[in-house]
Amino acid sequence: MCDCGRTLNPEGRCDASHALSDEQYAEMLERRQQRLKLSESVSMHRVYMEIDDVRVWYKIIREANKLYGKNWRGQQGVKRRLTSSPVRSPQVIWFEVPDEKFATWIALKYAVTPVAPPGK
Ligand SMILES: [Zn+2]
Repeated sequence: MCDCGRTLNPEGRCDASHALSDEQYAEMLERRQQRLKLSESVSMHRVYMEIDDVRVWYKIIREANKLYGKNWRGQQGVKRRLTSSPVRSPQVIWFEVPDEKFATWIALKYAVTPVAPPGK
């Protein structure tokens, strides 16, 4: 079995890319990387929820990290919004995640209120 490591299949060891020149192989990898980036950005969903406790926000961040690694985005300035007032006031906060169901699952787990995206 060949060990060149050239494969597009994570489980395979070598495939048709074995026959390419170094340059062609590099180009192929780059094109693939761009396609992956594109499909990731297209399939991101911005979900909104009402949160009134900064500790809950931290917990949700931990869940997102666990589920999606670096492939998610959170809103800026949330900590300030949730801690600036001496009384708890619910804030609508968004997360950008690959899976829309994140919102309903988080809402159930942490008793926060999911909010419909503005304009929908
Ligand atoms: Zn090979």
